[in-house]
Amino acid sequence: MVDIVIENVTKRFGTFTAIDGMNAVFEDGAVTCLLGPSGCGKTTLMRMIVGLETQTSGRILFGNRDMSGLPPRKRNAGMVFQYPVMYQTLSVEENIALPLNQDKSLSAAERQRRIDEVLDVLDMRDRRKLFIGDLDAGSRQKVAVGRAVARRSDIVLFDEPTTNVEVQAKLLLIRAFKLVTQRLKQTIIYVTHDQTEAMTLADKVALMRNGRIEQYDKPANLYNRPASDFAGWFLGNPGMNFVPARAVAGGAETLLTAGPLALEGALEGGKDFRAGIRPEHIGLSDEARPGSVPGTLKDINVSIAGRFIARVTVDGQDIKVKTDRVPAARRGGQVHLFADPAEMSFYADGRRIAAV
Ligand code: ATP
Repeated sequence: MVDIVIENVTKRFGTFTAIDGMNAVFEDGAVTCLLGPSGCGKTTLMRMIVGLETQTSGRILFGNRDMSGLPPRKRNAGMVFQYPVMYQTLSVEENIALPLNQDKSLSAAERQRRIDEVLDVLDMRDRRKLFIGDLDAGSRQKVAVGRAVARRSDIVLFDEPTTNVEVQAKLLLIRAFKLVTQRLKQTIIYVTHDQTEAMTLADKVALMRNGRIEQYDKPANLYNRPASDFAGWFLGNPGMNFVPARAVAGGAETLLTAGPLALEGALEGGKDFRAGIRPEHIGLSDEARPGSVPGTLKDINVSIAGRFIARVTVDGQDIKVKTDRVPAARRGGQVHLFADPAEMSFYADGRRIAAV
C-alpha cells in the first residue's frame, strides 16, 4: 500500500489549464473519490496518476517513488474504465485470471486462491464458468472490478465504472465494490460525478473545480461543513441555500433568523457575508413560531426520496426547504420558516469563516 502524492502538478493542453498547481496526498489503503462537475479535470488527473498522460510540471509520487517518466506498466497501478475491454469468449474466471497469468512469480495454487477470493467477495462463485457475453452490464463491470483488484497492484483507479449500468445493478455493483476494497485494502482512486456514489464509497472525497481541489475531506464533513459556497451548492439535492448576513456586535444577523446569532469565528467587516443552510435544516409551518421568519410559498414538489421540496420567497429571495409535511397554505400564501442556527455556516468571499 502506498500514498499517492500530487506535488504542485499542472497540466496544460495548449493554452488551456486542465489541472492547476494541485497539491494533495491520497492516503494508502483508502478509497478516495474524485468528485466534481464535468470538465473539472478528474479524468486528466487520473490519467496522469496511471501514466497515460504526462503532467506539464510538478511531480506525482507513489510513496516516495517519483513516477515521472515511467510508463503505465511500470507503475503497478490497475485501472477500470467506463467501458473496459472484456473478452467475450472467455469465462468470468478466465477474465479474472488474465492479469495473474502474466505474473510468472505466482504459483498455480496462489493464482487459484486469489481468483477464488475475488469470486467469493463478488458473490460470483456459481457464475465462474459463464461467458462474459452472457452477463448483464452490471455483472460484466463486477468482473472488471475483480480483474483489476486480483492483481493486487498497490493502486487501483476507477473511471466512472458505473456509467453504463442501470440503477438497480448499480447499487449491487457499488456494494460489491465496497466489499472488495474493504477486504483487499489497496489504495483506490475512484472518479465520479455522482455525489451519492462518492458519499457511499469514499473514505475521503476530493471535490474538484476548475483543475483544483476545492475540499478534500471525509464525506460527512464535506456535506455538513462545506468549506466553500461551491461545495455547499454542489453537494445535496438540492444544494445549500445562501442568504445575506450582516455582522453585528458579537455575531451576525441573517435573512432567515429573527434575532442576532452569537458566532464562533470572527466576521471581518466590509465583506460579502452570506449564511449557508441546507434545505433539510429549515422547518416550514403555517403559523409563526419564536425565531421564525415569514415568507410566501412559491411552489412545492415531491422529491425522489419522497420528501417535499418547497420554494419559499423571503424578501425577494427564493429559499429551498426540504420537508416531510405539506403546509395548508396554497401557492402564493403565507408560511413561516425556522432555520436551525446550529446548522448554519458563514461564508465570506466564498470561503467558510464561521459557525454558530
Ligand atoms: P467529465 O466528468 O466530463 O469526464 P472531467 O472532470 O473528467 O470531466 P477531464 O476529462 O479531465 O474532465 O477534462 C478537463 C478539461 O480538459 C476539459 O475542459 C477537457 O475538454 C480538457 N481536455 C481533456 N483532455 C484534453 C485533450 N487531450 N486535449 C485538449 N483538452 C483536453
